[in-house]
Amino acid sequence: MTSSQVFHGTVIHSLGPDQLEVIENGLIIIGPDGAISDLAKSIPRELFQQHLSSRKPAIEDYEIHYLERGDFLIPGFVDTHNHAPQWAQRGLGQSMHILDWLDKVTFPNEARFRDPEYARRVYSSCVDGFLQQGVTTASYYGSMHAEATKILADLCLEKGQRAFVGKCNMNRNAPDYYRDATVESSLKDTEDCIAHIRAIDPEGHFIKHVLTPRFAITCEDALLAGLGEIAKANPDLPIQTHFNEAEQEMSFTKTLFPSFENEADLYEHFGLLTKRSILAHCCYMSEYELERVKDIECGVAHCPISNMTVGGGFMAAPVREFLRRDIRVGLGTDSGGGFSSSILDAMRQALVASNAREVMSQGQDKVLSIAEVFYLATLGGARVCCLEDRVGNFAVGKEFDALIVSSKSRRPGVMTMVEGEDTPQTIFEKFIMTGDDRNIKQVFVRGRSVKD
Ligand SMILES: [Zn+2]
Repeated sequence: MTSSQVFHGTVIHSLGPDQLEVIENGLIIIGPDGAISDLAKSIPRELFQQHLSSRKPAIEDYEIHYLERGDFLIPGFVDTHNHAPQWAQRGLGQSMHILDWLDKVTFPNEARFRDPEYARRVYSSCVDGFLQQGVTTASYYGSMHAEATKILADLCLEKGQRAFVGKCNMNRNAPDYYRDATVESSLKDTEDCIAHIRAIDPEGHFIKHVLTPRFAITCEDALLAGLGEIAKANPDLPIQTHFNEAEQEMSFTKTLFPSFENEADLYEHFGLLTKRSILAHCCYMSEYELERVKDIECGVAHCPISNMTVGGGFMAAPVREFLRRDIRVGLGTDSGGGFSSSILDAMRQALVASNAREVMSQGQDKVLSIAEVFYLATLGGARVCCLEDRVGNFAVGKEFDALIVSSKSRRPGVMTMVEGEDTPQTIFEKFIMTGDDRNIKQVFVRGRSVKD
């Protein structure tokens, strides 16, 4: 990242949940620091040089990217809920209910990350795989192992992905071979990972540790309380957990914590519900919990694929209600629990889930639009991660996390063919609904090209 860059062509981004902006003949200038210094609209190609001539540096010092017709720039995708160790088990264990799936598939798999070499191999493939699919920011659950979690953080930094990386806390209701030995060791390992991540990225510019109690079922009171203390002492650290995901999980949580009426009160009691909390799923939300989540300003990671594929339910989170109340919400691939690790697929499944909600609510909660699911995948996700000042769209001053999408991929793809009369918006819709990673030609994080 040494020279300034300039991009000319179609630029598409979100300004708000239903505000999709399509800019034709757009011009984006990126400084050597990876920040967007100018976004100009309607600059025809022939006036492009003239527009730049008044600026510094001189035009020959820019790296120039012309986008051809059918190509366009969009912001990088934000994956607000992702289990990195499950990269190697994707697709397995379908038709099982969630707690059985954890026991039979997930825990045996995650236990393998005690071996740092195994962790390095799988995590390397995982980070490459998500970058290839345009995920420029990810909030990762690691395994319970401190060493493997540090390796994941190292790899994200090295490969250029913006990431929250969390050592998973779990000291009960998991097999002996895969759980934290004691509350103290779990907290000590957490502190150890926090210190490591601060050492490799002192300003937390790309990587932050995220406090990651797997969910209340796997954490004793003392562990939740200890994590709450760490959260209080470190107001820069995000927090993530699973929240009201499935009936089987919710009723087991109730039997473990009989003094709490609901999960909002439970996590709040332990100091784990804050503006920095990313609550995965939130499929079942009472009026009271919606109000608590709104008042505390927690973020919601909507994971429609796993919600509708992990057996034991057909969960469709009330996303329309979240948007109506201005509760921050983004998308998660939750990739171990479903059939896809693609945010594009998560957008499509979010449409399916919202159709289900429309039926369930007898027409009250209208289906989401393409503009809305695109918002969830970009600016919405950035808001969930409290990163909206830095990424999520192409506002001047933000960092340039972006994808160049091409409707004419080098390898033959299956995206709907582009026809002569197609507008940029039509081509965009064809990509969102039928494109895949073959159409993601280049990926940038803070101006650095990160896809091979
Ligand atoms: Zn999950």
